[in-house]
Amino acid sequence: MTDSTDSTDSTDPTDPTAARPLPPEAAGHLEHPDTGRPVLMTATDLVAGYLPGVDILNGASLELRQGELVGIIGPNGAGKSTLIKALFGLVPVRSGTVVLDGEDITSKPAHELVAQGVGYVPQTKNVFPSLTIEENLRMGIFLDPGRFDERFERVVSLFPLLADRRRERAGLLSGGQRQMVAMGRALMTDPSVLLLDEPSAGLSPLNQDEVFARIDEVKAAGVSVVMVEQNARKCLQIADVAFVLDQGRNAYTGTGRELMDDPTVIELYLGTLARDL
Ligand code: ADP
Ligand code: MG
Repeated sequence: MTDSTDSTDSTDPTDPTAARPLPPEAAGHLEHPDTGRPVLMTATDLVAGYLPGVDILNGASLELRQGELVGIIGPNGAGKSTLIKALFGLVPVRSGTVVLDGEDITSKPAHELVAQGVGYVPQTKNVFPSLTIEENLRMGIFLDPGRFDERFERVVSLFPLLADRRRERAGLLSGGQRQMVAMGRALMTDPSVLLLDEPSAGLSPLNQDEVFARIDEVKAAGVSVVMVEQNARKCLQIADVAFVLDQGRNAYTGTGRELMDDPTVIELYLGTLARDL
């Protein structure tokens, strides 16, 4: 790809930004299931991108209900990280809205969103490796240090390892343990919504299982979660509601179980991963 500004050629199969039609079956699978719980966060028809004139999200929507986990799966480059970043005010939203608890928070800066109860764990560089576990957790609550002890207790009740090893440097931990530190740091502000970008990336299968089990516990503790995952099968196993993001827009939506059992989703999006189970 030599000229990324040329959007007239949509036929190059090696160009991930080239438009290709979504599968026709997708049209009937876009409604978020009504689980009966109160809606906490919605994103509606988000259009967003990094460079002028290049939209990465092309009308992506999401609905997060209280105490639930929304899973987002989809091919590489589909815009999953961009969607999470748009929710957290890190990518300019060109149109569409994000609403939290009835309030329009579209394009609010991240630090204000943190104060409103949104936590975010990026996919990479999500811990300070030269700091200890405890120092990493203190970074999570540096605006409100007086609450450290109280929040620390709560976070280590979910991740006991963080208490046992609180004086160790985060850089010396395994990938799975670092992921716990990153999630613990985000939980120090006591968020109502936790945004997770590929928490299992780069982990061994055993560590992946551990991380997913912990995320399930975080949810059980009352935190609503939006999680992007490459590991689609495992994501769907713990997701209450899930959708496939393809080319910056929703392709399939349903309960985690419905998507796992949908032959088209299996064929198009779970193919190689399906064999892992
Ligand atoms: P996913 O997380 O689904 O793999 P991303 O949201 O990371 O996809 O990326 C979607 C598209 O946005 C890709 O084409 C990628 O090259 C582009 N992109 C991601 N980050 C940036 C950035 N900081 N600047 C410009 N383009 C970006
Ligand atoms: Mg990504």
